[in-house]
Amino acid sequence: MAETLIRGAAHVATMDDGAAGTDVLIRDGVIAAVGQGLTTQGQVIAAQGCLVTPGLVNTHHHLYQTLTRAVPAGQDALLFGWLRTLYPIWARFTPDHVAVATQLGLAELALSGCSMSSDHLYLFPNGVRLDDTIHAAAEVGLRFHPTRGAMSIGESAGGLPPDALVEDETTILEDAIRVIDAFHDAAPGSMCRVGVAPCSPFSVSRELMRDAAILARDKGVRLHTHLAENDEEVAFSLERFGCRPGQYAEDLGWTGDDVWHAHCVKLDADEIALFARTGTGVAHCPCSNCRLGSGIAPVRAMVDAGVRVGIGVDGSASNDAASLVDEARQAMLLARVSRGADAMSGAKALRLATRGGAEVLGRDDCGRIAPGFRADIAIWDMNGVEAAGNWDRSALLLAGPRKVRDLFVEGRQVVRDGHLMTIDLPRLIRRAERLLADLMA
Ligand SMILES: [Zn+2]
Repeated sequence: MAETLIRGAAHVATMDDGAAGTDVLIRDGVIAAVGQGLTTQGQVIAAQGCLVTPGLVNTHHHLYQTLTRAVPAGQDALLFGWLRTLYPIWARFTPDHVAVATQLGLAELALSGCSMSSDHLYLFPNGVRLDDTIHAAAEVGLRFHPTRGAMSIGESAGGLPPDALVEDETTILEDAIRVIDAFHDAAPGSMCRVGVAPCSPFSVSRELMRDAAILARDKGVRLHTHLAENDEEVAFSLERFGCRPGQYAEDLGWTGDDVWHAHCVKLDADEIALFARTGTGVAHCPCSNCRLGSGIAPVRAMVDAGVRVGIGVDGSASNDAASLVDEARQAMLLARVSRGADAMSGAKALRLATRGGAEVLGRDDCGRIAPGFRADIAIWDMNGVEAAGNWDRSALLLAGPRKVRDLFVEGRQVVRDGHLMTIDLPRLIRRAERLLADLMA
């Protein structure tokens, strides 16, 4: 029986109404107890002066984009122009690019306190498969929710992506079935759950959206896409489909407690009510929304209406950072820009980034520090300069630190003293630099 005791924390933000204390006992990957004065025969992690939180949960990402951060021609473009700049670069990606980018992105997330991440891979050039991301993620050791994305309408058919990056719809659905059968694990404590995720309503057909929803429900997996990201997309929806994005989603089976949509910046009051009524989740990506000038998502209105909301860093080409703790801080700040200083507390934003994200991903076994939940735990050292002078050690999102000291996933230590334990990060960065030199040549 493997036990680890996190002992003597300054504060444990359990995100659970019942559990409280300064110590957390982990046994065989699960939280066995939360309290004070706990003991163990196993490993002890001293947490004096530290804040302990659930591992943060990232609900939206395109990890492959980690090799295309800050591409000059895309730095100041709006969404559609930004995509047109990047598609030709992504068309040159191989399985090696995708694997290295996936590990880099997950490493950055882990160091920012993230224990579970979804990923949305929607282009498969040069033999790339979803499998490449799944194998790469397993080495890093984070809980992983990859989604099989897709684009099927290329430029010649009036779509945005070049024809070389789109697939035919039969291939898309058959490959989704293949990866679900090969990798999806529905059991409690699962380290890998696969979802189905056509890229967006403007890059696949109405039929594929509908068939993807039918397939996901047949297989018992979740559905994910981009929705209502900016004004251009809403205008496209009205012109092409004759309705707003929320109506389009509802008509095609894309609402329900097994669905989560990224962005939702432009949801109107009726759409927010629809999402609340149906249990549909939202991945709020504030940095990306700022970066692409998309707008401010009505998160406070969503939360007030009862919509399930998690935080996502979005792809590394539109953020271009992937720090989840910074993203949660940005969510807190951006809500205040539109609704005032009391629109979102630091504690509330942290809750969205932990328990909220777990709920959006359908993980009723993660996101809280309470007996029976999986041992995904972040330890933040409040003894350093970023937290010096801080009156409230639970106020992580107002003052620092911005890097986690220790991170546990399923009870396994992935980060220790600010360093990744699972992969050789300097070597990975050198590999990335070689791939980048080729891409830029
Ligand atoms: Zn995205």
